[in-house]
Amino acid sequence: MTNKHLPQIISPDGHAISLSAVSDNAIKIIQELKGAGYEAHLVGGCVRDLLLGRIPKDFDIATDAQPEEIKSLFRGCRLIGRRFRLAHVRIDGEIIEVATFRTTPSCADDVDDDRTHITDHGRVLRDNVYGTQEDDVLRRDFTINALYFDPQEQSVTDFVGGMIDLEKRVIRTIGDPLERLREDPVRMLRAVRFAAKLQFDIDPSALSATAELASLLLHVPPARMLDEVIKLFHGGYALRTYEMLREYGLFRYLFPFTEQCLDGVTPNLSSLALANTDTRIQLDKPVIPAFLFACLLWDPLQADIHKLQDGGMDSRRAWSIATADAVRDQALHVAIPKRFVLVIKDIWALQPLLEHRSPKNINRLLANKRFRAAYDLLLLRAEVNEINSEIAQWWTRIQEANQQERESMIRGLRVSAPKRGRRRKRKSRAA
Ligand code: ATP
Ligand code: MG
Repeated sequence: MTNKHLPQIISPDGHAISLSAVSDNAIKIIQELKGAGYEAHLVGGCVRDLLLGRIPKDFDIATDAQPEEIKSLFRGCRLIGRRFRLAHVRIDGEIIEVATFRTTPSCADDVDDDRTHITDHGRVLRDNVYGTQEDDVLRRDFTINALYFDPQEQSVTDFVGGMIDLEKRVIRTIGDPLERLREDPVRMLRAVRFAAKLQFDIDPSALSATAELASLLLHVPPARMLDEVIKLFHGGYALRTYEMLREYGLFRYLFPFTEQCLDGVTPNLSSLALANTDTRIQLDKPVIPAFLFACLLWDPLQADIHKLQDGGMDSRRAWSIATADAVRDQALHVAIPKRFVLVIKDIWALQPLLEHRSPKNINRLLANKRFRAAYDLLLLRAEVNEINSEIAQWWTRIQEANQQERESMIRGLRVSAPKRGRRRKRKSRAA
């Protein structure tokens, strides 16, 4: 990507950005940087969202000032990141990311090699090489993510045809898709994320490159995959994202064991869990990644338990081995931090207890700190007819009931429970 582009400058009457939608703090930082003689612009997702009339999640600034220079200008500035040195400037509790223009290794003709490194698969590991604004454009992923906005001039700078692509509603890589997606395979997931969120199409050449390169996701470190999975599924458009990931053959690189259990019947537990997450986000209710993992891995877990039991293992041992295996194997693809593992296993462990509704356990279960998440999974299981919906309804009712009604519901369980004979004592080892 050595060909240099002449930028198109779009004046205020050629775009729809209203300054009132821009963070005052971001404007202040840009004024300060420009006052000190540097270039500074809003860039990336915030410009894209402003142009589309959406509220940006956050505001990022790109500048030719180097991190140390940025730090010396702002009191509330912290330099972060090992892979990329970035400045975080905090004003009035708002954190604005200020990044120095960077270049991709292929644009950096005169850099020494220890600052960049490309793996056998063509993936760029480190690209902390400073450059010009033009270099900074070309290292970005998609044309719609590479627009710059200067709040003082109120002008948009477009080097790569991003404005046209925004109008056409298409996600197009900057440069050759095969090269850009190989360089960073996570961009395949990002394309889907933006396409689902904005209801844009992915450019056909990027789609065919994705079909060719999807398996490169196997080489992305699981920790980075986790970051991306959370962005994919906690952005408010999880269901659409999931459907596109499946359509483009990417889901199998995120959740291979889940993919194996999908039999084409919809809705399934995964799609219901993702739709449920979208609804919760819409209602401003909290969402936790552990719940999603618990739901997405539930079917492969069940398949595994059955396989072990079919092989003659007792159910308790089968459960314990299969749950440990499920998180361990999944974590080879998408990291699962220990704190999530505990929650996932708790949500799973509560399922049989919620199903069996042993009268003496009910109050304890209701007070369990994972009850809500486990109940939510139980509802989804009822929805796919894995369990009797009467059980799920019973748990819904008991949460809404007062103390007296609760006691009566619990008594009702005793009456309707099938009479069991006295449990036989386990044979002692000695016997
Ligand atoms: P969102 O609204 O989801 O935050 P975003 O476009 O701001 O979307 P970020 O991940 O915050 O996405 O990244 C900010 C910008 O940095 C992007 O718009 C893009 O220009 C650039 N960028 C981020 N990740 C990559 C990547 N993997 N490859 C190339 N450019 C990237
Ligand atoms: Mg962003």
